[in-house]
Amino acid sequence: MSRQDLAPSRSAAIFAESEGYFPGGVNSPVRAFRAVGGSPVVVREGRGAHVTDADGRRFLDYIGSWGAAILGHADPEVTEALREAAGRGTGFGMPTPYELDLARAVRAAMPSLERLRFVSSGTEAAMSALRVARGATGRDHVVKFAGCYHGHADHLLAQAGSGLATFGLPSSAGVPAATVGQTLVAPYNDLDAVRAILAAHPRRVAAVIVEPVAANMGVVAPRPGFLEGLRELTRADGALLVFDEVITGFRMGRGGAQARFGIAPDLTCLGKIVGGGLPVGVYGGRRDLMERVAPLGPVYQAGTLSGNPLTMAAGAATLRRLTDEAYAVLEARAARLAEGLADAARRAGAVATVVREASMLTVFFLPMAPRDYAEARGADVARYARFFRAMLDRGVLLPPSQFEAWFVSTAHTDDHVAATLAAADDAFRAAG
Ligand SMILES: *Cc1c(COP(=O)(O)O)cnc(C)c1O
Repeated sequence: MSRQDLAPSRSAAIFAESEGYFPGGVNSPVRAFRAVGGSPVVVREGRGAHVTDADGRRFLDYIGSWGAAILGHADPEVTEALREAAGRGTGFGMPTPYELDLARAVRAAMPSLERLRFVSSGTEAAMSALRVARGATGRDHVVKFAGCYHGHADHLLAQAGSGLATFGLPSSAGVPAATVGQTLVAPYNDLDAVRAILAAHPRRVAAVIVEPVAANMGVVAPRPGFLEGLRELTRADGALLVFDEVITGFRMGRGGAQARFGIAPDLTCLGKIVGGGLPVGVYGGRRDLMERVAPLGPVYQAGTLSGNPLTMAAGAATLRRLTDEAYAVLEARAARLAEGLADAARRAGAVATVVREASMLTVFFLPMAPRDYAEARGADVARYARFFRAMLDRGVLLPPSQFEAWFVSTAHTDDHVAATLAAADDAFRAAG
């Protein structure tokens, strides 16, 4: 019997007590493992590509703090930068040199962010970007895509009703219908749907917001021409194009998806990697738009801990490490992992498709790569749950949902990839 087979005790006890404090025992829903069953992994610490749970069991980790941990956990340089910043105070409610450091690095990588603001979450970034878009255009409607996630602001918690120009229906209790009534939802990769929405609401749409590579319904790639089409359609209508690069920023390469596809959005949202593992969001873009933000303009946005020194220092230390060489290694490792997973699935006779974009991927239990949320939702989630459990039993921690991305970090080595593939060989068979 290996250590991995021992019944968890400490983790289960911590989780059980947590259920008496937090709804579902967690501070963010997917952590509760409801989609895959069983008791969640309670992480005591992480180092490099591994996390260790409260029982001392070690797992190779592909959650990576939902992509934020692109250097792996407890990277020594990031940790040192944090230690140094913490020793000088955690925040002052005043400008600091730390903010300028990280801003320089961000704009050097993504020149479309002519002006930017640091906030404390991706949710705030998307909410604020759309406030700027509405404030600048004087229009109220917003177009989003089904299956794209932009945080939990009220008006973004809308998914598709059927029909192209249907007004969004709330996908959360507590969101007034009137709030999402100005959110119009189109299928991902469907330019005709966007065209129809804009035609039905001419010069009333403030912005089209999109994940340029979707990663919150599992990884779904933009079809060739989709992002270019959005750029043209929005420009023709006078609507703004907002790229939510909270995941893809510094993941798809230093310049994010916008550099990868050669498209300059009007506004961009960042988060996750740019904070080096601490709470963060960024919104920014065209100077004329961002100069609408207070104190220069009438669009109000503020934050007590925005640009706090710890986040700024961790972010800057992280971006310094993301060289061209680092991205080349990430790409090669992720490619080997994706190809190996596809081979393993084939050998096991599993109906599965691996979708990879840069260093993130999803194993969909589907015969083909999905193009939108409706297709993604056709995946065999029961089979994913069995696959997840089988991988966990073999010491590999995957995202606890079919509809999330796996993230490869610079701490994942060729040996880690090989170990993952060996586990997957068994797990695909175990999943049936
Ligand atoms: C994670 C995420 C967000 C929300 O960020 P939080 O920091 O969790 O608020 C927004 N957009 C995208 C694309 C994300 O992946």
